[in-house]
Amino acid sequence: MTAVPQAHTFRPRDLVGGHVVLDLVNTVTARNAEPADWLDGYPRLLEWAALTGRFSPAALTELAATAGADPGTEARALDRVRELREALHALVTALVHDDTPAPAVAVGRVEKQWKQAVARSRLVLDGNIPRLDIGLDASGLDYPAHVLALEALELLRSWPADRVRVCPGGRCGWVFLDSSRGGRRRWCSMATCGNSAKGRTHYRRKQRPEDPRDPAASPTGT
Ligand SMILES: [Zn+2]
Repeated sequence: MTAVPQAHTFRPRDLVGGHVVLDLVNTVTARNAEPADWLDGYPRLLEWAALTGRFSPAALTELAATAGADPGTEARALDRVRELREALHALVTALVHDDTPAPAVAVGRVEKQWKQAVARSRLVLDGNIPRLDIGLDASGLDYPAHVLALEALELLRSWPADRVRVCPGGRCGWVFLDSSRGGRRRWCSMATCGNSAKGRTHYRRKQRPEDPRDPAASPTGT
């Protein structure tokens, strides 16, 4: 189902993925119901990127200063981010559910965007550690897409198979990295999906307090 663009002001609580690439995938919400695409324009992509803290603030400020100057090019740059996001969603969910073979179209799309990012990057040394650097000079409006494509490869290369989850919340489907000590995190967030599940359980228990198998049932039926 195609996600319908929806105006949304990003808040820190929208970033529960534990990795910028998973947070990118989660910019479509309610994937298991009526998907809404919270990246409803290029300026919104910049807002989201700033909130993640994984991009150069100076680069984002520079891009924001010229936003609106070339709507057509901005729309195409946003489309490339969306294409990367959807390919990553297909790949991440296939990996979580251990689906084989991996979705070839998605792999091909990630490969294409990664190659474009590498072609525009420079090899720099941080101390003695080499890394690929993405800058505005070479990437322009594709700066966010190129950073994300490199990050995606890093995540996929060191895929934490037993730690990536898909939230079972009713209108959610967000993906996240479970970094809890016991590795038993079930919900994207206890404040939203976890809480509403708890609420439903509570409601069901209230509906049948006479059920002796239900530890919450009270003998007085209250
Ligand atoms: Zn959720």
